[in-house]
Amino acid sequence: MLWISEASLTEMSKEAERAYPLETGGILAGYVANCGDIVLAGVSGPGPNATHDQFRFTPDHDWQCLFLDKLYRDSSGISVYLGDWHTHPNGRPHMSRLDKKTLNTIAKSSEARCPSPLMMIGSGELSKWDWLAHQYVLAGLFGWPVFSRKLQVNIFS
Ligand SMILES: [Zn+2]
Repeated sequence: MLWISEASLTEMSKEAERAYPLETGGILAGYVANCGDIVLAGVSGPGPNATHDQFRFTPDHDWQCLFLDKLYRDSSGISVYLGDWHTHPNGRPHMSRLDKKTLNTIAKSSEARCPSPLMMIGSGELSKWDWLAHQYVLAGLFGWPVFSRKLQVNIFS
């Protein structure tokens, strides 16, 4: 199960609407609880140098690294990188081919240190967003396609 605070989800929806009809996104950070549940303790926006397109979004990587460093320090090392989120304006909250490829790359990246990354996708339009969380489980024989599972998203206040 995935837990996200109402404040974080509101922040993501606000950013989704700010960028609409272009894609936007950010980072998901938090920790895995003893019971295996994933708790998102912080989300970021895209960063000032991100590029937004109708079907593509590229985050401001340097800015996001600084965001993660700060969150890590502020949480005494508890909150770490868990994955990314982005929007599909007027689309569906399912992973595209490119999304699967991206998730696969993150899972294999030594820099990300995140073997089972999350990808949360918000689809919709102004003031109505559906959020779906995917998690990388296992790569195929040739690293492609990615097998992922959908996680139930629970909101806490
Ligand atoms: Zn996508």
